[in-house]
Amino acid sequence: MRYAILSDIHGNLEGLNTVLEHASSQGVDRYVCGGDVVGYNANPKECMDIVRGLDMPCVMGNHDEYIGQDCDLSAFNPIAQEAVLWCRNQLSEEDRQWLRDLRYVRLVDHFSIVHSTMDSPRYWGYVQDASDAAANFTYQSTNLCFHGHTHVPQMFIDDGVDIHHGSFIEPLKLQIGNRYFINVGSVGQPRDGDPRAAYCIYDSEEETVELFRLEYDIETTKTKIREAGLPERLAERLDYGK
Ligand code: ZN
Repeated sequence: MRYAILSDIHGNLEGLNTVLEHASSQGVDRYVCGGDVVGYNANPKECMDIVRGLDMPCVMGNHDEYIGQDCDLSAFNPIAQEAVLWCRNQLSEEDRQWLRDLRYVRLVDHFSIVHSTMDSPRYWGYVQDASDAAANFTYQSTNLCFHGHTHVPQMFIDDGVDIHHGSFIEPLKLQIGNRYFINVGSVGQPRDGDPRAAYCIYDSEEETVELFRLEYDIETTKTKIREAGLPERLAERLDYGK
């Protein structure tokens, strides 16, 4: 089985369509989503409809939570508040219920998905180094788990002695006895300095995980952000992948 693992789509329809087209050319059988379908970019409804239409197993991201629920936004900065309120208005009550119904952790066949980290999936901790990953591994019950949230593709490998932290240079070959916590990066708002959309394909027969980076029509995504009246900063950052 070949799984496309997508995360942090964030309402970026051009990024999502580019990734889906590529994944289908790669013979993907199943699509899986690591959360944050909405927020930041201008097509939250369209992206949600695609995720639902493909019947992707999906977990709750922090933006899915803020936008699905009626939580108090007074702790948010004004730009973030404005973006959340705009996005809530784009969605029907039924869409927002779908977001509220997402679970924090899911098992997909023999691997698991979580948006942030297994040790505190409701508190949105960021896994950036080996010590953060160690906390995750304490609670990770499958050998393989995919996540997102930082928008930076990277991998953490627990070989039973140490935790190794690395980036994708070539496809990762999974080894028996190791445990893996893999960040598939972001489709809709990469933050590792590379503006191209990111996603991974996990091949369960070959036991490989491969990261792909794809150029997409950023100009259209930026124009839509501006036309929606969303903060300019959200358009600018797409060019830098920050
Ligand atoms: Zn995100």
